[in-house]
Amino acid sequence: MTLKQHPVMISSIASEPGVKATVSQIGAASGQGHYPETQSSAFDPNQVDYDLVIVGGGIVGLTLACGLNHSGLRVALVEAKTESAAVARGQAYHINLLSSRIFQGIGVWDQMRPNVNPIAQIQLSDANYPGIVQFVQQDLQTEALGYVAEHRVLLEVLQNFLSLCANVTYLCPVEVVKTDIQPDGVELELKQAGDVRRRVRTKLLVAADGARSPIRQQAGIRTYGWQYWQSCVVALIKPAQPHHNIAYERFQPDGPFAILPLPNNLCRIVWTVPKAEAAAIAALDQDQFLAKLKQRYGDQMGELSLVGDHSVFPVQLMHSDRYSLPRLSLIGDAAHCCHPVGGQGVNLGIRDTAALAQVLQQAHQQGQDIGDLAVLRRYERWRTPENLTILGFTDLLDRIFSNTLLPLVILRRLGLWGLQTIRPLKLTALKLMTGLSGRIPDLARH
Ligand SMILES: Cc1cc2nc3c(=O)[nH]c(=O)nc-3n(C[C@H](O)[C@H](O)[C@H](O)COP(=O)(O)OP(=O)(O)OC[C@H]3O[C@@H](n4cnc5c(N)ncnc54)[C@H](O)[C@@H]3O)c2cc1C
Repeated sequence: MTLKQHPVMISSIASEPGVKATVSQIGAASGQGHYPETQSSAFDPNQVDYDLVIVGGGIVGLTLACGLNHSGLRVALVEAKTESAAVARGQAYHINLLSSRIFQGIGVWDQMRPNVNPIAQIQLSDANYPGIVQFVQQDLQTEALGYVAEHRVLLEVLQNFLSLCANVTYLCPVEVVKTDIQPDGVELELKQAGDVRRRVRTKLLVAADGARSPIRQQAGIRTYGWQYWQSCVVALIKPAQPHHNIAYERFQPDGPFAILPLPNNLCRIVWTVPKAEAAAIAALDQDQFLAKLKQRYGDQMGELSLVGDHSVFPVQLMHSDRYSLPRLSLIGDAAHCCHPVGGQGVNLGIRDTAALAQVLQQAHQQGQDIGDLAVLRRYERWRTPENLTILGFTDLLDRIFSNTLLPLVILRRLGLWGLQTIRPLKLTALKLMTGLSGRIPDLARH
């Protein structure tokens, strides 16, 4: 894919006189301050600029916009950061099989595949207990058990694909600073550099604006959950020996320690430790960090060297008490966040996009109003139980393995033994991890 992006810049401010309505100001996403109140105008549903506006051009928002290619819907995607700033995030993700199939269905996987690393084997272990659970490709008869991809690789391909989608307008860098949700549609105030402002109207607003989702907060949607007692230390490592496409999840009493294989024999480590320890690790210089990491990493891949810096992320479980209101839906981290054990976070969001795209296209083909709550609830009913299952599963894994209580130690080691030896149990766990359980969206059926 070589086509260059042409994000749309706002060139004018539309300011129509009209009836005052309830408006919500958004500033949290970018730290923007207050700005002069502008008046909203009465909503004429026949005069919308777009059928839907997606706010947030992270992996989730971009995937939805690309997934709506050929849908017949007029879509706008609004991202506050510049394209290059959105790409420049030193994160890497486990991309499960279902997500890779959704990308394939959209038509972006062939561009991603040369730069992502397949997982040929997954090894689970409990501290120093010698019993290891091994999942191999033959268990599922698939090309791989999943993939590991850098954020920039996924985002660049999605951004480039967007330029081929004639029905999508990419507004970037543009920030949504105000939303006005009315019974017949939504009016948004957009702002770009130089404080140029413009209003756009849409039938449906989709918030893909991340875990702190200003749009979710302004809409008054409550969330439930907690911050974990742990934080996550992440780093990129280059081992001397080949990684052989093996992903490791080693459960320690402090928290899980994951090694994910990347192209060029790099490894991403996701190291969960208690918050105080994470703060101490964050303060280490590179040599001290590497020395500490080696104690946990082991020597199965020979000498390790650090590529770039290490960083620390807070870890939380969060679930919104609803994903939809009339004219509004939440997707990705805006709707839910989970513990990074098992690397499920972004996969839940990608699955949300495939489900929402399917619901919206069907409604559109049947002549229904895509902003109607009855339509949006189809998406919510589909995704809520599936997301809660993964949130519960990752929470349980972390709790069962991150402690030294003898009955739990015995229980989890029995569990690991069962996973390794009882085939139906192994297949059930594998299907959950790879995303192949639950309702498969049309975009992943090909
Ligand atoms: C340590 C750690 C490790 C992780 N590892 C994995 C893993 O291995 N596998 C995995 O699947 N997941 C992982 N995750 C989770 C994953 O990072 C998230 O699930 C994912 O990034 C969420 O994507 P998103 O597009 O929903 O939100 P984001 O990536 O947060 O994107 C939101 C976008 O919205 C934009 N925005 C916000 N407000 C506005 C506004 N008002 N106007 C315009 N734009 C706006 C922002 O600029 C941003 O680009 C991990 C998370 C952590 C913390």
